[in-house]
Amino acid sequence: MDSDAYDLVVIGGGTAGLVAAVGAAGTGARVLLAEEHRTGGDCLWTGCVPSKTLIAAARRAHDLHTADEVGLASVEPAVDLARVIDRVHEAITTIEPHDSPERLEGEGVEVARARARFVAPGRIDVDGRTVTFRTALVATGSRPAVPPLDGLADVDVLTSDDVWDLRILPDRLVVLGAGPIGVELGQAFARLGSHVTVVEMAPRVLPTVDADAAGVVADRLAAEGVDVRVSTRAVRAEPGLLVVRGADERGLPTTDELGFDRLLVATGRRPRTEDLGLDTVGVEVDGDGHVVVDDAMATTGDHVWAAGDVTGTMPFTHVAANQASLVVTNALFKLRREFHPERMPWTIFTDPEVAHVGMTEAEARSEWGDRAVVRRHDFADVDRAITGAVTTGFAKLVATPRGKLVGATIVGESAGEAIAEQVAWLSSGASLTTMASATHPYPTTAGSRAARSNADLDEPSTSTHRDPGGCTSVASGFRAAGLTRGGAGPGRRAAGSSRRPWQRRPMRSAP
Ligand SMILES: Cc1cc2nc3c(=O)[nH]c(=O)nc-3n(C[C@H](O)[C@H](O)[C@H](O)COP(=O)(O)OP(=O)(O)OC[C@H]3O[C@@H](n4cnc5c(N)ncnc54)[C@H](O)[C@@H]3O)c2cc1C
Repeated sequence: MDSDAYDLVVIGGGTAGLVAAVGAAGTGARVLLAEEHRTGGDCLWTGCVPSKTLIAAARRAHDLHTADEVGLASVEPAVDLARVIDRVHEAITTIEPHDSPERLEGEGVEVARARARFVAPGRIDVDGRTVTFRTALVATGSRPAVPPLDGLADVDVLTSDDVWDLRILPDRLVVLGAGPIGVELGQAFARLGSHVTVVEMAPRVLPTVDADAAGVVADRLAAEGVDVRVSTRAVRAEPGLLVVRGADERGLPTTDELGFDRLLVATGRRPRTEDLGLDTVGVEVDGDGHVVVDDAMATTGDHVWAAGDVTGTMPFTHVAANQASLVVTNALFKLRREFHPERMPWTIFTDPEVAHVGMTEAEARSEWGDRAVVRRHDFADVDRAITGAVTTGFAKLVATPRGKLVGATIVGESAGEAIAEQVAWLSSGASLTTMASATHPYPTTAGSRAARSNADLDEPSTSTHRDPGGCTSVASGFRAAGLTRGGAGPGRRAAGSSRRPWQRRPMRSAP
């Protein structure tokens, strides 16, 4: 066999590249993975893992600071950022072996620590060595985009690439950009003790998220002392100073000078597609440089596929992994499994977390107008939330006019865990009625959500429910099964039944 011929050559050893390489090697394919820096990619080194570790420390600090909410004495935590960052690196080190070249080689993948680029159809240069491929995967990811702001080149800015090297907590931190990364990191640094200002040119934080959910996060940031400046544009920077333009309450233009010790730029990401030789294999990129793919993750180039951030579809690790697994079967076995963005959930790890899958309320409204069914219930009246002193937030279920679930947004404690159930329901094509028939443990927010999901479909199509408590899921289950129709009224028979030994406390009446 030609030692330079491969069934699959993967360019990039982040999540997408690793999943594809290991998956393909597992089928017996001959696989080469080229990674120019370090296997594991952004998620391990500069993304999910470090950010979630920092957020965990910030959460503990916040819990100490707000202990009086649960009847304890609040404590002002002493924060040594160097120790927090050491723990960030410990987490990376603990996880890193899963993504290491040794592990890959153990799975049958050949690993080249090298920069790769296409040179001709079927050919890739891997650091001076030309290899041939039957199929190839572009999985080169993305990097922080730093805007061409006047004076910014003279400022020693931080990005999500290098903020993990900070050892001293900045007293004044300005965060440019209120997308997921800016808001997650801004809140974390504020909780650790920095005075944080977030500057966002859109009219709200998390501009692409359900507006109600983004509003909950904005309120929480403000309550925690983060200075959030929306509809505000950075116009000039110099060391220690950011000049911004906004508007006052009357809409008149204002100019402000924001002093900072460190400036964190979180204004989006751009794909790593330059100097990849994509034109030599007929792979098109869009105006932002993302590789253009079809639903099966095929590019416009023969036998060339793409997955992950480089495609600009949904910039999340689990999406990169999903797309990479599609590539393995589609490229090597000529199947046509398609990417379904509508089934891909995501979470923003602010506190409260925001998690979402499928259509937003706004999208459903633009599709079906007032006939879209939207069920929202707030956690303020959910027993589990009350006991845990985490009553901020809500769950919103979005359904077709006939009641089929097409979207869910949850903002609240552990929303990222809670969305998993909605993903399963949505993927199975369930209706709100079916969802309400499932029994959940009490007290859980999931149980209360299921209870409310079947709130009579003839109610107005938007309703904000004060949840009656987890026990009501039992009542809703009966209702969904049709056991209460024509009886004492929806939910009442279950609520009033004396044959419910599990009910050890008075149940609040169903609405
Ligand atoms: C701060 C932050 C927090 C995040 N938090 C989350 C989260 O909580 N949950 C979540 O789901 N997602 C999160 N993400 C997003 C997640 O990290 C990315 O979606 C994911 O890493 C994308 O994986 P990828 O394989 O597409 O690309 P990457 O991980 O970027 O991997 C691409 C690899 O290709 C290599 N490469 C590039 N060009 C070449 C070349 N020519 N030759 C060889 N190698 C090359 C690069 O060195 C890199 O290692 C976060 C991102 C950031 C920045």
